[in-house]
Order: sequence, then C-alpha cells, then structure tokens
Amino acid sequence: MTIAERWEAVETRLAKTLQQTGRKRQDITLLAVTKVFPVEILCEAYRLGLREFGENYVQEFETKHPTAASLPEARFHLIGHLQSNKSRRAAEIFHVVQTVDSPKLARRLDEAAASALDVMIEVKLSVEEAKAGCAPQDLSELLDTIRALPKLRLKGLMTMPPWNEDAEATRPYFRRLRELAVRHGVEGLSMGMSHDFEVAVEEGSTCIRVGTALFGRRIKVP
Ligand SMILES: *Cc1c(COP(=O)(O)O)cnc(C)c1O
Repeated sequence: MTIAERWEAVETRLAKTLQQTGRKRQDITLLAVTKVFPVEILCEAYRLGLREFGENYVQEFETKHPTAASLPEARFHLIGHLQSNKSRRAAEIFHVVQTVDSPKLARRLDEAAASALDVMIEVKLSVEEAKAGCAPQDLSELLDTIRALPKLRLKGLMTMPPWNEDAEATRPYFRRLRELAVRHGVEGLSMGMSHDFEVAVEEGSTCIRVGTALFGRRIKVP
C-alpha cells in the first residue's frame, strides 16, 4: 500500500468515529509519526498534504532536520522522552515538545527557546518502571511551573498507555487523562495511536499520533 492509500484508510476510520461521536475533523490533529523512517518518507507525506510530524529522538531528527526544516508550514513534535541535556537542541528543532515531565526540564526548555515554544505534559498513568512522564499527583506543581515560564505555551496533556493489543483495554487510561485535563483546566489531549485512535477520539483526544497505519511497520534498528 502507498502512503496515500494508508492515509485514506486512516481518514476513513477517523471519519466513522467522528460521525459516531459528533465531533469535527478540524478538532483532531493527525500527527504523522515518522520515527525510524528516512526523511524522504517524511517529504513524501508532506507532498501528500500532511503537515504535523512526530519524532521520538532528538539525535535521529537532527539528521533529518536540514531537509525537514525547508518544508514550509511543516511542524515537528517531539513525542519521545527528552533528557534535559538535549533540551537546548530540542527547543531549536521542534515546534512542540509533547513530553515535558518535570519542572527542571520545563525550565531548561524555557531558557533554551529563542521565542515561544509549545509544550505538552506527558502524564504517567501506569506503574510500569520504564515509562517516563509526570505522576498525576505531581501535575499541579508542573503546571504552575510551566504557566509561570514566559516562553512556554501549554498545549495539553499527553500519555502513552501500556501496550495492549485490545484497544478497549486502553480506554480507562484515555478517560483518566481527560479527567485530569478537566480538573486542571487544560485543553489539548494527545492520545491514541495506530491501533487505538478510535477509542482515544471517543474519549476526547485532540491529537492522534499515528505511525504504523500511515507508513507501515517500522524495522527495528538493533
Ligand atoms: C511510535 C509512537 C507512536 C506511533 O505508534 P504507531 O503504533 O506506530 O502508530 C505514537 N506515540 C508515541 C509516543 C510513539 O513513540
């Protein structure tokens, strides 16, 4: 399947969910996740009309950035964990950092940003060791920090639930993220991936992060 065909299939799935929920297409950002794929794939997706792109690693996107930065109107979101020693470079090459998870990282990004930088808070909703993210009980403090920083613009909450083949099993996590957003007066919700974005949209997602369904399986680099 071509990227165009895959994108159409994604839009068909999305349209069906939007119809069922009475939500509008313009309220959902489709983030094309291009991690692991070469920059040519990103450029092809851009030619087809995609404008928002997600990448997981600062170092990997560095190599694509010279080409990617020349695409007018393309916006790049960092959706992978950010170490604070890479925050300076991240603030330069990304338009949105979706994975802010500590006051320290927020302050580093604010210092590094040349002008306004859009950010989201990654919230950790499971107890898995490996998952990054701000614990729900620490959310208030992080929100206060971000709201007080001059250059950071808070765009919402993001989460990455534990993997489950069954999309329904993920619904409680999406619901919990929305509850947290409502409680803290935050608007955007980055949640849902290739296999579960319908459930995420039903639960209020405003940004779905889709890789496999647009570009095919990623070949794991060892
Ligand atoms: C890789 C990745 C995605 C995309 O996953 P697919 O299942 O390929 O759609 C979304 N969000 C994050 C944080 C990712 O790392």
